[in-house]
Amino acid sequence: MNEEAAVRVALRPNFTRANKIADEALRNTGYPKAPIPLIHLVESNGWKVQHEELHGADGYTAKVERRNSFKYVIYIATDMDSQKYSQAIIQFRQRFTLAHEIGHILLHSHIDWHNVSEELDEILEVEANWFASRLLMPDYIFIHISDMDPNQLSEKCQVNYSAAQKRIGYLNTKISNHLIREASKWVNLEDVPPEPIKQTAMSDEEYTELEDFISGLVFKEVAITYEDDEINCFVCGHTYLTTLIDTVPLRCVHCGADNLDLG
Ligand SMILES: [Zn+2]
Ligand SMILES: [Zn+2]
Repeated sequence: MNEEAAVRVALRPNFTRANKIADEALRNTGYPKAPIPLIHLVESNGWKVQHEELHGADGYTAKVERRNSFKYVIYIATDMDSQKYSQAIIQFRQRFTLAHEIGHILLHSHIDWHNVSEELDEILEVEANWFASRLLMPDYIFIHISDMDPNQLSEKCQVNYSAAQKRIGYLNTKISNHLIREASKWVNLEDVPPEPIKQTAMSDEEYTELEDFISGLVFKEVAITYEDDEINCFVCGHTYLTTLIDTVPLRCVHCGADNLDLG
């Protein structure tokens, strides 16, 4: 492998590592419920968060050298366009930016931040965004089918819609399949089992009469709408709920009147 190829191979975002480090950060704070609080993570690591006007940037992190270690100060922009964005969007974006900056600290502390090529910088940004997404929307918070809805996930995790949408797009298929399976189980449970047909003793005569009656019925499909969900027989007034059945007999089962749908 020549040198150029080696560089190209090295310059790829390492998503597996970002996932692992995000999971470690969550484990260290006791796998909190969504919305994931970031303050414990910041405080337990001794980082400082400063909210300031940054004139264009969403945020950045300063690595301050101490005698034997580094100190990190995370700056979060307060000067986002409040005419253009709602307060909720601004807050959610600041939250994502904080998670992104935490990503830089936890993933990229070994890199000399003052000496980063444009190409490497792009990769570091991708990794920090990926980390932020995993920190704010970890696998374990996906517990209900509604978590696969970007609006609901956005609300639950306090991230913006686009971040929620992207995260769902990258959701492990094992998790999404599981949620879909669980949801379909609930749908089946909510279905009311059909009433068993009563076994009644019937004379041959009665049975023949019933058979004749049934064979004489002509079924006609009716459209199911919520506005017009009842049809009444124009003779006896018997009510047929079209929302409960997808066909009603053309002749009234109750009194035998014809052209039921005209009643
Ligand atoms: Zn960044
Ligand atoms: Zn009738």
